[in-house]
Amino acid sequence: MDVFQIKIDDDRPIQLNVKNYERYTKKSDPFYIIENNKLKYYAICPACKNPIQVINLYVDKKFDENNNKLPLYAKHVKRSVIGVADYLQEAYDNCPMANPNKFGGNEKHRNKKLRNEIVSLIKFYPVVLFNEIRSITGIDFSEKAFGKMINTFIKAEGFYYKYITKYNLPYGFLNMQKSISIYNNKLYPSSIKNELIDNINKSNFFQFNKFHITPKSKDMFCEIVIYLANHKFDKKFESETIEIIIEEKFEEVSNVVYEKTIELNLEKYINTIEKQKRINSLTNNIILE
Ligand SMILES: [Zn+2]
Repeated sequence: MDVFQIKIDDDRPIQLNVKNYERYTKKSDPFYIIENNKLKYYAICPACKNPIQVINLYVDKKFDENNNKLPLYAKHVKRSVIGVADYLQEAYDNCPMANPNKFGGNEKHRNKKLRNEIVSLIKFYPVVLFNEIRSITGIDFSEKAFGKMINTFIKAEGFYYKYITKYNLPYGFLNMQKSISIYNNKLYPSSIKNELIDNINKSNFFQFNKFHITPKSKDMFCEIVIYLANHKFDKKFESETIEIIIEEKFEEVSNVVYEKTIELNLEKYINTIEKQKRINSLTNNIILE
């Protein structure tokens, strides 16, 4: 995982990097402790409140066989760490970061509190979700398409899906849409925008023309869709990946236009909501007359 927390009663994830870790822990006890003559670094899992250990915090000089820097990450430890957190097996077993449910299927829980938490995020902060799914896919979905996605989510009771949590909601939300038509869509500013344009232009039936994804020939009835697939959990790093796939179809032919494996970011969405709440509260004292 690449998030952490230091307070047991705070479930907001903090992005793990050296600067954040040092700032929040103040480089002090009980997070920095010497064990067996070595300095070890601990924190708390924001989701399950069990202790986690930070690995490769200061490794600038260590390289693997490919000369890469060893990745900084955090991992659950299955024992109590004095002063940090007590280990609770049940919380660990149910932790969406230690044991995430596989995307896909429609296995449901029936927890009303969890349901309402997810529903509130969608109901009160739809713009955050809308921006996030456009930023993840690089597709500027229309408002109408987003409305359809919300309906699909509510009809299928996505808020009860076991694999959907407040941390991964934009990914879970997209995943349960099956395939989404991107015919005539614009692109959204994102890190993959140029790759998308290249791949669309190289496709058999589509092009990026006048800022839209349009068919190369107007006489063909062809389709182009996007979907998420192949969700994977890496046990060693406790990180999750998923593939973004764009596919074109014409009669019996279908081709993959674009395919990219991305790592799930489990802090951006929920922290953006927190920021929205803070900003909204700035105008609480302004009275209408
Ligand atoms: Zn956890």
